[in-house]
Amino acid sequence: MNAALPLPVEAASPHVMNTYGRVPIALSHGQGCRVWDVNGKCYLDALAGIAVNTLGHNHAGFVAALRDQVGRLIHTSNYYHVPDQERLAARLVELSGMTNVFFCSTGLEANEAALKLARKFGHDRGIARPEIVVYENAFHGRSIATLSATGNPKVQAGFGPLVEGFIRVPLNDIGQLRQATEGNPNVVAVFFEAIQGEGGINAMHMDYLRQVRALCDERNWLLMIDEVQCGMGRTGKWFAHQWAGIQPDVMPLAKGLGSGVPIGAVVAGPKAAALFQPGNHGTTFGGNPLAMRAGVETIRIMEQEGLLANATRVGEHLRAGLGRALAAELASGAVRELRGQGLMIGIALAKPCGVLVGQCAEQGLLISVTAESVVRLLPPLIMTVAEADEVIAILCPLIRQHLAGAP
Ligand SMILES: *Cc1c(COP(=O)(O)O)cnc(C)c1O
Repeated sequence: MNAALPLPVEAASPHVMNTYGRVPIALSHGQGCRVWDVNGKCYLDALAGIAVNTLGHNHAGFVAALRDQVGRLIHTSNYYHVPDQERLAARLVELSGMTNVFFCSTGLEANEAALKLARKFGHDRGIARPEIVVYENAFHGRSIATLSATGNPKVQAGFGPLVEGFIRVPLNDIGQLRQATEGNPNVVAVFFEAIQGEGGINAMHMDYLRQVRALCDERNWLLMIDEVQCGMGRTGKWFAHQWAGIQPDVMPLAKGLGSGVPIGAVVAGPKAAALFQPGNHGTTFGGNPLAMRAGVETIRIMEQEGLLANATRVGEHLRAGLGRALAAELASGAVRELRGQGLMIGIALAKPCGVLVGQCAEQGLLISVTAESVVRLLPPLIMTVAEADEVIAILCPLIRQHLAGAP
C-alpha cells in the first residue's frame, strides 16, 4: 500500500499540533479486526479507533454503501431536507423508545447540545441560572462547556475560567446526590455516562440508575445519559442504560454510530424533544448525507449480522478468559478488578500501566490504557471468539510481566 510516511514515525508530524502522545505506528489499511501499518506489519485491533469502528475495517456492505453515497451527495447543508436524517432518526427513536433527534458530528457536540437543552429546559420554567449535576471522573469532551462538565483536572488545567452551573457528585450514591441538591431550586438535570469510558470503565449500578430516574421524575429534572462511548450496541444492548430498564430524557451519541464516519446525535424524549425551536441550535456539517448514510447502514448491518448478541457472547468469552489467565493476579490484588460489559472491558491494575500500549503494539495488538492504570478493550463488534483468544494470548503475558516488574 502507500508508504506515505518517511520513518521513523516518531518524527513524522512536524506540522501537526502536538496534542497527542502517539504510539509510533502509522496505519495503512485494514480488514475486519486487523490493520496493517505502512511497513506491512499486522495488528489485531482491540480498540476500534476508541469504540468507533463498530463494523471493523473495510466491511464490504458498508464500503459499498458509502461509495454509492459519495457518488450521489456528500453534503448539502441543513437549508434543505436530508431524507436520510429522517430515516436514521426514525431508527434511533425505535431503538431507544425516545421521540426526536438532533444530528451533529462529534461526541462533544452531542453533549454540548444536551447541556443547551438542559439550560433551555430551566429557562422555559423560569430558572435564570440553571444547574446540572455531573459526576466524578466523568468525561464529556474538550469544548469549554464539556470540559467543565468533565470530572478530570488534567482535562481542565490551563483552560479556566470553567463554565459555571455544574454540581459534582460521586458515582452510585443516591444519598450524596440528594444531599448535594437538597433545597436547590436551580437544578434542572442529572448528566452522566452509563459506563464511564475515559474514567476507567466505571459502571453506574442498575439500582442506582433506577433511583436516579425516579428522583428526576419526582423533582422534574432531565435525566441525561452520555452514551457516546457505551452506546450503539457495545454492551450488548443498543444503549447501556437499557440493562436497567429505564429511559433517559436526553441521550447524546457519537463514536460507534457511523462506524468511522464522523457523526453525533442527541436523542430526546417527550420532556426535551420540543425545547429547541428554529434559531436555537444548529451546525453546518451535522446530519449531512454521508454521515446519515453511514448511520443508517451501521444499524442495518448490526441487525443483519446480529452484532448485539455477538458483543454479549464474545464479551463474556473475553472476560472469562481474562479472568482465568489473570486468576493469580486477581487473587493477589495486583489486578484489582475486571470490569465492563459486552465489548467494553476494563482491566484495573494496581499500578500505572501506560507502557503496555507500546508493548502490545510491538506484539501486534492495539489496546488503550485509560485513567493511568486501566487496560481498556473496545474491539469492533464483529470480533470473533478466536480473535478474542488471540487478544488474551498476547495481552495477559505482558500484563503479568509488567506487574512483576518495578512498581
Ligand atoms: C469520546 C467521548 C466524548 C467526546 O467525543 P468527541 O467525539 O471526541 O468529541 C464524550 N463523551 C464520552 C462518554 C466519550 O467517550
